[in-house]
Parts: sequence; structure tokens; C-alpha cells
Amino acid sequence: MDPRSALPSIDKLLRQAEARELIAHHGRDTVVGVLRRLLQDRRMAAGRGEAAAGEGVLAECAERLAAQARPSLRPVLNLTGTVNHTNLGRALLSRRAAEAAFQAMVSATNLEYDLEGGTRGDRDSHVEALICRLTGAEAATVVNNNAAAVMLMLNTLALGREVVVSRGELVEIGGAFRVPDVMARAGCRLHEVGTTNRTHLRDYAHAVNEDTAAFMKVHASNYAIEGFTAEVPQADLAALARRHGIPFLIDLGSGSLIDLDAFGLPPEPTARQAIRDGADAVTFSGDKLLGGPQCGIIAGARALVDRMRANPLKRALRVDKIILAALAETLQSHGDPERARAEIPTLRLLTRPQDEIRALAERLCPPVRAALSGLAEVRVVDCLSQIGSGAQPVDLLPSAGLGFAETGAVSAARIAQAFRALPLPVIGRVHKGQFLLDLRCLEDEAPFLAQLGRLALAGPARP
Ligand SMILES: *Cc1c(COP(=O)(O)O)cnc(C)c1O
Repeated sequence: MDPRSALPSIDKLLRQAEARELIAHHGRDTVVGVLRRLLQDRRMAAGRGEAAAGEGVLAECAERLAAQARPSLRPVLNLTGTVNHTNLGRALLSRRAAEAAFQAMVSATNLEYDLEGGTRGDRDSHVEALICRLTGAEAATVVNNNAAAVMLMLNTLALGREVVVSRGELVEIGGAFRVPDVMARAGCRLHEVGTTNRTHLRDYAHAVNEDTAAFMKVHASNYAIEGFTAEVPQADLAALARRHGIPFLIDLGSGSLIDLDAFGLPPEPTARQAIRDGADAVTFSGDKLLGGPQCGIIAGARALVDRMRANPLKRALRVDKIILAALAETLQSHGDPERARAEIPTLRLLTRPQDEIRALAERLCPPVRAALSGLAEVRVVDCLSQIGSGAQPVDLLPSAGLGFAETGAVSAARIAQAFRALPLPVIGRVHKGQFLLDLRCLEDEAPFLAQLGRLALAGPARP
């Protein structure tokens, strides 16, 4: 008998109660589509001489439908030890910011509408005053991210002309953000000055010619130059720019709106200090140390920001109502440093005391050990977290977590894979051959514990 004849027909399958349930949930066309592909696969298998069991077709169909319906973008637990992990979506929004975003999503808003006059308004108006208050700038605007902010700033102020940058600041941030490339795409010419490790005020002074549009400083986010170094203080560069009648621009990268020193964190340049030092425009990210949604903020002199707003690129790079709503709430939280720390997850996680993290590790160790019994030795370890997203790469934060020593039964990579395969994927890191879960970013341990029983370590590892 042809093994293919053992396969049931679609019509017959669709008459079964299980199929009716699937149709109610996923829609008839979707179910029929999946069934067709599934039967086709089984027919091919039968053609190759593999058994073509007619059994369990609907169960497999249900599985395929569930997998198909599962969103690709999913929540995960970031236990990598890098608090602002770009690949894991950077900052978590505060509850207030998330609620504001939700309201803006499901309701009409006065996004570009002046409620008083009943006339057209400006979307920047919802955050501009807040940014100005926190930075000391005269004016501000917001675009898609900091890369866009730098692009808009340079394209507006230096199109077809030269921008002077120190060689020590020609950085690559990751992804495709490289200062020379961004500058070229913004339509301006890079005029490099100084050397990798030392740049002096006179280097900038000698570079000025009739084509010079601006001086720019770029915060060297993800590396540090140490040893015999020299860079020009912001205030000196600002004064030189003023003498030549050109703007002084700073790409702060992460930037910060509050003094992180006060929390015992490594200092990060604040936008306020840059403006006070005489910067005419600064740019920074919304989802790095600010702890808000992805966006790029430009703050500076009114005349310059107005020109940027009038650039057609602004329209292409603008942010939507959801981002503005979340950003406004995030900025409100920054009005007071203690409030910022309490409300903004990024700041709360970065300042979490090591003792508290270690106590959590002690609590979680026994159940995790039980779940991995015989496969790996689990113990509480001290470790070091990173801020991430380019902020202060050199300074590490004392933390604690769980270390998994291999017993020979399974490799570190295999343990990492099993944690990633959980319904709420847990992302750790492999350090010196050992799998490590840094618990700094685990605030709610219940979902972590609830799925430990599903750790599947049996079976061969996928390559
Ligand atoms: C992170 C960073 C950028 C890019 O910012 P995004 O918000 O990721 O676009 C640009 N410049 C510096 C110095 C940075 O640190």
C-alpha cells in the first residue's frame, strides 16, 4: 500500500472538534494553510520512504500555529551584567513613562495642536521646556536617536563646509555609527586635528579657515585613551569658537541629566555642564543613561535649534507621539535626582547595592542548583557589571550572581543555550569558560523561579 494513503484529507481533519477550536482561535484560512503545508511535508517524507503516519496531524498543526502566532520580539531577562544592553533594547521605561506611552497610543492627542488657540502646534513643545530646564539650554528638539541628532545638527550647520574634530575622537560607536562616515553622509567635510592621544587648543586654532563651519567634540563613549594624553577643555574650545564666530558642538553620546557622582557612579559628562561651558548645541541619546525611550535630543542656542527644525531632514527623523509621551515623563522624573533614582529603572539598577544582589543570589542558588543537579555546579559568585551603551567602559560596578562550573556532563555553551530556550529567555554571559548570570537586573525573581523546571538540558546541543 502507498504509505501516502494513510494521510487524512483536509476536509476530514477540519470536521474534527480540535480543528474547530483551532479555527476559532486562528481563523479558517490560517489553519487550512498550515494543514496543507503540514500534509505536504508528510507526503514528501513518505515519498522518501520515511513513515507517513497519519497520526497526530492536528496536534502538530496546533504546535505550528502556536509557534507562528508567537511574536518574534519578546521579553527576555537580561542577566548579562550589562545594564544598558543595546542588543537587548537598552533602557527599560519607568512605569510612568510606559503608562503615558500607552495613553498616547490608544487616544487622540494634542500632538501638534495648540489647545488654547485651537490652532496648529509644534510636537517639540511637549518636551522642549523640560529639556531646557534640565540642561540650561535656550531651545531643544528631539529626533529618532542620537545618530539622527548628530546627522541633523551637522547637515543643518555645516553642509558643504568643514567641521574640525580631534583625531582622538573619531570613534566608532558600534552598529554603523562612525564619526567620519556620519559626517560625510551629513554632507560636510571632516577636518582632523591633533593626534590620537593628544590634541591642543592651537591645533584647532590652526585649522580654522574660511570654510570652517564648526568645532565638534565627540565623547569617546566606548573606549578610553590613557597615559600621555591631552584634550582641550570644553570651555577653552567654546571661547576659541566664539572668537572665530563659529558654533561649538558636542556629541555627548550617553550624556546624563543628573550628576552620577552623587550616586557613587562613574561621572558622565552632563548636558548642563556642556552648555555652561559654552557649547552652542549638544546631542545625546534618550535610551542610554537618561533611561527613556529611543530618541536623540538636541539642546542649545535658539537660533541654531530653529534652523535644525526648519531642515527638511527633521521631518524625516522626527519622533512620534508615543516616544514624546514617554520622554516627557522620563524628563519629569529627572527633576530631582532621588526621584530619578527611584523611578527610572536604568538608574535604579545601576545604583543597586552589591549586598542586595548577593542576597538575591543566595536565595536563588538552592533552587537553581536543584534544577541543574548532576549537570553543573552552581555557586554564588561576585562579579562586575557594566553600564553599557558606551557609557564609561572602563569603570565596572561590583555585583553578584550565579556561576555554573562545568562537571563534564554539559558545556557552558550548552547551559547558556538551555537558559535562552526558556519561555522567558534568560540571557547570561560566558566568562572564562564559565556560564554566569549577573543578577543586578533581576528585580522580580518569581518569573525566573517559576520556569526553572523547564530547563531542558538533556539531549544533544545544537551547534
Ligand atoms: C551612542 C552614541 C551615539 C549613537 O547614539 P544612538 O542613540 O544609538 O543613535 C552617537 N555618538 C556617541 C558618542 C554615542 O555614545
